[in-house]
Amino acid sequence: MNFQAPKGVSEYIPPRSAIFEFVREQLCAPAKSAGYKYMELPVFEDTGLFARGVGESTDIVTKEMYTFEDRGGRSITLRPEGTAGVMRAVIEHGLDRGQLPVKVLYSGAYFRAERPQKGRYRQFYQVGIEAIGLNDPLIDAEVIWLADQAFKNIGLKNYRLEITSLGDAESRAAHRKDLLKFYETLNLDEATASRAKLNPLRLFDDKRPEMVEAMSKAPKLLDYLNEDSKLHFEKVRAYLDALGVQYEINSKLVRGFDYYTGTTFEFIHLGLGAQSAIGGGGRYDKLMSELGGQDLSGIGWGLGVDRTLLAAEEEGVIPADLGNADLFIIPLGTQLAAIKIAAELRSAGKVVEIAFGDRGLKGAMKAADKSGAKYVLVLGENEVESGSVELKTMSSGDVKSVRISDLVNAI
Ligand code: AMP
Repeated sequence: MNFQAPKGVSEYIPPRSAIFEFVREQLCAPAKSAGYKYMELPVFEDTGLFARGVGESTDIVTKEMYTFEDRGGRSITLRPEGTAGVMRAVIEHGLDRGQLPVKVLYSGAYFRAERPQKGRYRQFYQVGIEAIGLNDPLIDAEVIWLADQAFKNIGLKNYRLEITSLGDAESRAAHRKDLLKFYETLNLDEATASRAKLNPLRLFDDKRPEMVEAMSKAPKLLDYLNEDSKLHFEKVRAYLDALGVQYEINSKLVRGFDYYTGTTFEFIHLGLGAQSAIGGGGRYDKLMSELGGQDLSGIGWGLGVDRTLLAAEEEGVIPADLGNADLFIIPLGTQLAAIKIAAELRSAGKVVEIAFGDRGLKGAMKAADKSGAKYVLVLGENEVESGSVELKTMSSGDVKSVRISDLVNAI
């Protein structure tokens, strides 16, 4: 019996897994250097957390959650996104009672029962941050800048940042009134009407051509922002300009969660085809209090590791030697000495492989070649005795004599 991975999951095996690790680290790096603290959370939570947090009008909650009953009869859901779980943990552990803003970073696997295609998986990976407890346009701009910086560090160029503001409760209420009036003129089918009832903005997200056409005439929330919301958004834009972050305003931008308020944004890669969103996020004013915590506003993002990797491959910006060893040692009857030399170099931070098994010199050279190691050396008894080896640079074939004690500087 041969088993296969479940349908639609993404998995990374060598050598491509080195690229995955690289991309994930690069996505985390700017946030880490800005003092965001790493958090590791469970991949499953109480189903109610997501129903309540993500929102009952969303595709995620209505169609895409992996929900099951555990052995104790509790309803459990594999996390479809990160923010709700972070909020649960922040409240449960009282992080919001300390210094604000709470700034956290996380990464891991997320689960949505979507129709699989290129760039859309049922298990996929995200890196995310949240900054909780401060409603300041400056932090909105910094959060967006951290994502932009992450993509830039990887070398991506061919993407666009779209931003909008969903305003505060007052702005949304004014818009909602006119939007619902507009919906009365549309003759919506029952399912669509009931989605609109749960969250009227949701229909901006409807991909059916007739709905896209109809919604192009709908009143836009950006035109309904009250003075506070308008000012906040203007400041975010001014800060982004000052930080050199390029963006476009998209007044129809709706994200897949109900919790967003105010500043909302999405990064779109232009070389990926249909599944082009590589990251997105926004501010959420009510999420924390909805989940039983204090009435604190927050802002955050989730960046897709899988799609960022596809984008980086598409743009050809992945370093060629990722995950390759610095040195490959071929011992000839000197296995133990080789392991000792390798141990010393490894503790100095070098990546060192040793040829194992009895493949003979030719076979071992082949293995060295395949490994992509930068240098190779053959370690015979003579070399061990004299303390000097011939170090070969694989790319050029150049050979030089190096003292074993000096190897760490030579490679
Ligand atoms: P979201 O949590 O929906 O805002 O998604 C944030 C990012 O995660 C997106 O921009 C995608 O890059 C990635 N993402 C979301 N859903 C999937 C999926 N099913 N497969 C792969 N990547 C995904």
